[in-house]
Amino acid sequence: MISKKVEVALNQQINNELASYYSYLGMSAFLETTPFKGFASWMRMQAEEEQGHAMKIFDYLNDRSGKVVLEAVDQPQTDFSSPLEIFESSLGQEMEVTGQINEIFQLAQEEKDFATLEFLGWFLTEQVEEEKSAQDMVDLLKLAGGSVEALLRIDSEAGQRSSEEPEA
Ligand code: MG
Repeated sequence: MISKKVEVALNQQINNELASYYSYLGMSAFLETTPFKGFASWMRMQAEEEQGHAMKIFDYLNDRSGKVVLEAVDQPQTDFSSPLEIFESSLGQEMEVTGQINEIFQLAQEEKDFATLEFLGWFLTEQVEEEKSAQDMVDLLKLAGGSVEALLRIDSEAGQRSSEEPEA
């Protein structure tokens, strides 16, 4: 059986991942109203990954005979000023999620919950990748500055993105 403390923390993380899903969906919705369809597609794919993260924890809690509790998810931001602002916001969000995973990892250490530590290893690896891909986009967009030509090229490349989820 999973401890109550770890169960509460994992339920909170389901909510955090769903908030992240919703936040990326809001970014995608905004981008669909701009010429940047590639960025819109990138964000939609990112949203789907976040939903997958929530479901991974959902399944894990059930496997450990915990109880899943679904809390309300905050309304996401759907107005932005530029692709750079959006990707900077995405990077900030990923750094926050990394902090959340680290905290649950620490809690699982305190609780001597070795199965949860093993489970969270996948998330730690995933967060390295999430921060890197957001940072790469921020760097590219900063380099592009106000060049429409450069922005459209980055947008087109972003539209080619395929799922990069590591194996479970
Ligand atoms: Mg996630």
